[in-house]
Amino acid sequence: PSKEYEMKRRAIFRGVQEIWYFVQQELEKLKKKGHDQSAPELASLIQEILNSGKEHEIVLLNDLQELSSMEGHDAWRTTESRALSDLVQRRLHYLQNPVDCSKARKLVCNLNKSCGYGCQIHHAAYCFIMAYATKRTLILNSKKWRYHRGGWEKVFLPLSDTCTDPSGLDRSNWPGTNETQVIELPIVDMLSPRPPFLPLAIPRDLSERMIRLHGDPQVWWIGQFMKYLLRYQPETQKMLDQAKEKMNFKTPVVGVHVRRTDKVGTEAAFHSIDEYMLFVADFFNKLEMKEKVAARRVYLASDDPSVLPEAKKKYPDYEFLGDVSIAKGAAVATRYTDSSLRGILVDIHMLAHSDYLVCTFSSQVCRLAYEIMQTLHPDASSKFKSLDDIYYYGGQGPHQQTAIYSHKAHRTGEISMEAGDVLGIAGNHWDGYSKGINERTKQSGLYPSFKAVDKYNIVDFPVYNEVAV
Ligand code: GDP
Repeated sequence: PSKEYEMKRRAIFRGVQEIWYFVQQELEKLKKKGHDQSAPELASLIQEILNSGKEHEIVLLNDLQELSSMEGHDAWRTTESRALSDLVQRRLHYLQNPVDCSKARKLVCNLNKSCGYGCQIHHAAYCFIMAYATKRTLILNSKKWRYHRGGWEKVFLPLSDTCTDPSGLDRSNWPGTNETQVIELPIVDMLSPRPPFLPLAIPRDLSERMIRLHGDPQVWWIGQFMKYLLRYQPETQKMLDQAKEKMNFKTPVVGVHVRRTDKVGTEAAFHSIDEYMLFVADFFNKLEMKEKVAARRVYLASDDPSVLPEAKKKYPDYEFLGDVSIAKGAAVATRYTDSSLRGILVDIHMLAHSDYLVCTFSSQVCRLAYEIMQTLHPDASSKFKSLDDIYYYGGQGPHQQTAIYSHKAHRTGEISMEAGDVLGIAGNHWDGYSKGINERTKQSGLYPSFKAVDKYNIVDFPVYNEVAV
């Protein structure tokens, strides 16, 4: 399939989702009116429309999914995904294993950011992207890492077989010069000047292939750095395999992440288990239209130990996998210890290996699982439902969309746009509308999501001619 064909196919998939978000939300409002005005027959009629409409949506999405695998397209996607990923992985391997470490140009990154596991892995991946973009070998300083006192290499393979020594003839803080041998990188919030290649940028030399292959090439790109970074030590792999076997982790399974405790009321809102389960039910209803489902399995991860027992009690038709003792260890008081590391490793691994994710993208735990998920499928960009944010990367450059249709504001809160306008997107309200700013008119507000598409930030990165295509 051509790039244009693939983009159009995915646009239709998103369009079906968006039209249903819109119609569903409007019907819910009408249903509420029915209740408020004591017209229960009207309310129940609307509920019937909602139920049938949902079935229509499910069938359309299933058909589109089947269409995508016809004509050998799935086979092509598998081959291309492997080839493209191999190319990036070989480049990273080349970058990380210079012939002479004493002469190599290096980028030093300290794994001492005082934040959670997801945040720290994102810090390491940001360093790695900076290293790739400046063609410097990444040296990760991880002694006394708060998630493992012994350092990174106790859990993951070292980033290099030949070069882990941070020393050099001269060193400087970022940016230094091209000739400076060793550059120290600050956390992204302190980075100055900010280079153009920070996420969500994608590399120009691979962009055509990435856009053809993947529904969100920005996440695919991040995923490739995760793939290299998070190569498990044999001990870690064994621990995860055992955990998987013990809980009888099998597909089909939906991964649910419920982030509570210190996050609620500070960085994110509270969401009840029912809100997550609505989308879990959707997933299985959709699957059951196609095949018989033996068990509705859910892997449930949370930092709140009350969630798993509550879910088991409330949803007896589902089989819940998960471990309350992991959730207990995830409390703020015990979070930054070697033993809680095991819990977060297990949770993220199982979430990433699920068939679908339901979570809040405000949490770095779920965004990390989503990024890793992209490395396990040719295109897993639509295998998620976020209850709040759209995908983002901490410290990212501006996330923009392009209006592809003009729009005249007709409700309060809406903004107008002309086709071609650039929009800074702040979020999707999952009701047919996104929120953002029209950069031409400087107006902020809501615009219909289906009238805009992501504007990729395509940037010149080194092209690594030393590594065969
Ligand atoms: P964020 O704060 O949710 O954006 O994500 P971070 O990963 O940066 O920090 C949250 C930390 O809380 C995690 O790294 C874990 O240590 C802990 N945590 C949160 N949710 C879970 C969970 O579902 N399972 C486990 N094991 N730990 C969690």
